[in-house]
Amino acid sequence: MAAGSEGNRQLRPKLTRHKTGERFRQVVESAPNAIVMIGSTGLIEMVNAQTERVFGYSRDELLGKPVEMLVPERYRPNHPGLRTSFFANPVSRPMGAGRDLYGLRKDGSEFPVEIGLNPIDTEDGTLVLSAIVDISARKRLEDQVHAMDSMLTHMNRVATAGELSSSIAHEIKQPLAAMVIRANAGLRWLTRDTPDLDEARAAFRAIVSSGHRVAEVIESVRAMYRKSSQHRVSVDLDDLIQSVLGLMRVELEKKKIIVQNELTGPIPAVMGHGGQLQQVILNLIRNAGEAMDAVSNRERVLRVRSAIHNTNEVLVSIEDSGPGIDPENIKRIFDPFFTTKSEGMGMGLAICRSIIEGHNGRLWASSGSHGSVFNILLPAQKIAKARSTKSPVKNSEAIEPSP
Ligand code: ADP
Repeated sequence: MAAGSEGNRQLRPKLTRHKTGERFRQVVESAPNAIVMIGSTGLIEMVNAQTERVFGYSRDELLGKPVEMLVPERYRPNHPGLRTSFFANPVSRPMGAGRDLYGLRKDGSEFPVEIGLNPIDTEDGTLVLSAIVDISARKRLEDQVHAMDSMLTHMNRVATAGELSSSIAHEIKQPLAAMVIRANAGLRWLTRDTPDLDEARAAFRAIVSSGHRVAEVIESVRAMYRKSSQHRVSVDLDDLIQSVLGLMRVELEKKKIIVQNELTGPIPAVMGHGGQLQQVILNLIRNAGEAMDAVSNRERVLRVRSAIHNTNEVLVSIEDSGPGIDPENIKRIFDPFFTTKSEGMGMGLAICRSIIEGHNGRLWASSGSHGSVFNILLPAQKIAKARSTKSPVKNSEAIEPSP
């Protein structure tokens, strides 16, 4: 790059003593960032007022001293070498690209900085003008965002476990209770003075079928976790919706919710984490169910749709016939800890949104004909997948509430 630097050097105007004079000093002095000018020996030739404020030294304490006094001790041994290589190839560039840089204040405290290096040719040779930006506030914000992110990930895991275990509990409680009742009945039929083998057989058949139902629930959870490995895989959202509806069947039936399952055409697969996406759908359906708890004067309807959108996206919408979202709250429902429920944690939608955005998609709420619609938009994989037929709930089938 020697030729480039030579070219660069030729293009740079040489500052005469006059040009480095009063006007130049005024500009440097009033700059909002700390500006330190050094020569090739590394001695400080000029600083501005902001440098005094940022580093806590007076100008007199800095001028003529090695610039290393502003560098934390652990970085000092390397600094002269870096300086020499900059002077060998003096082009404007940020310092330490990709590394975290720190400044050292007079009181010994350190702070994160970004440094821009600019060579200036003067009659006395090349000087380097370093513009130093204190990025403590930005770093603090980044740290907060990072902490928030890890908290969300943690909450995500806790919430997944919570949501899932309550769904599993709902699903297997009923067949387990049925098994106990039927087993007791079977025992009674067998231990009567005149055992009734037909009745006993019927009781045992019922126990077998309930046992299969429990096994199905457990298998669907295992399948969900197999799919949710660390790697993104091709996910069929329709299959995923069906498995969530299957998992929540008892819960939805109990609430007398009519499920309008409108997965009407083949949609392309999306790339993602099956378990995470399943959690989003589960959460949105659970919220829809809870919103409809308040509905007693009309049908409780959960409408789930999937469709191709703009040729290269998949849109899933989950609509309920609940009371809808108060316009005052619509902007806040995705905020962490926002809840209108007495027992709510307010993390569900925040987690759902972070999962969908982590998949380069969008999640938003709108108003439906009665209640709310939650929409998930995800980039489609290129190849369209034919609809699977092995789903626990058939297409366009409504799960009617049990009488
Ligand atoms: P939580 O369910 O613990 O309250 P969420 O983040 O899942 O947390 O939801 C936040 C809030 O969004 C809920 O308290 C509720 O006010 C509103 N909300 C979510 N889903 C619906 C829905 N389907 N209909 C109406 N309001 C909803």
